[in-house]
Amino acid sequence: MGLRDQLKKREERREKAANGGINGGLPEGVTRYVRLSTELKGEGKPFVILRDPDLWYFYYVHEAGDFATRQTYIKKHTCLNSPRKAPETIEEAEEMFAKFEKPNPNVCISDKAKAKRGLYFMVPVFDPEYNEWRVLDFKEFHVSNLINDMDKTEKAARKFDKSYTMIGDVVVIRKSADGKSYTIESSDMEDDKAAKVKDDAAKVDQSEIDYEELANFREESDIIAILHEAHDDHVDKSVLPAVESAQPQDEATPIPSDADAPPEDDF
Ligand SMILES: [Zn+2]
Repeated sequence: MGLRDQLKKREERREKAANGGINGGLPEGVTRYVRLSTELKGEGKPFVILRDPDLWYFYYVHEAGDFATRQTYIKKHTCLNSPRKAPETIEEAEEMFAKFEKPNPNVCISDKAKAKRGLYFMVPVFDPEYNEWRVLDFKEFHVSNLINDMDKTEKAARKFDKSYTMIGDVVVIRKSADGKSYTIESSDMEDDKAAKVKDDAAKVDQSEIDYEELANFREESDIIAILHEAHDDHVDKSVLPAVESAQPQDEATPIPSDADAPPEDDF
């Protein structure tokens, strides 16, 4: 990237920060990340999916905990050995998968410390309630379920319309009946309302979606602090650089809070 582009990007970032950061354009208290546990409960919520599942942004996360006892063994953080952008083609997606699938201790200190690593996807959607794009930040397991749902619905619909695709159509995403995952269905929104929503969704400029920012990559020093605080059984702390000087624990540099990080309300 040339200097002109860099400067332009910096300018855009400053402008964005002044306008509410990544949540700019959304009402107070609403974030780009759809709150899975609250916004998708009950009847669910209508969305337009903006991108083919083969091209969804994927990244890796280190986290470990026990859901039943609400214990955190490793505080959730993004693996540094993760893509910074969504793939544009199937070939690129395959290359990216091959490149990032395995932990890489040379790139990510958490990989080096053998911290548990899981795959996440960000599903870009248009939210008709706010007329804005947002993302559904899902674990691999949930994405598999959603893609199965989509394949089934599309297969049934193609008996009547060979070119039917759920991408760009109005769908409803909600928690599944057993509460353990999510489902996606066609929406029964009235035709003219749905047509307007689809039109608005088609106007979203996807190049505005900064996945790198959404994935909230941290500085290595922050990650080292997280790993030091992790449960001994879940991280190989022998590979970590020592905490600087022998300052008492409570005076150690606190891990910065991340108000703009993906919510941890998933399961
Ligand atoms: Zn990692």
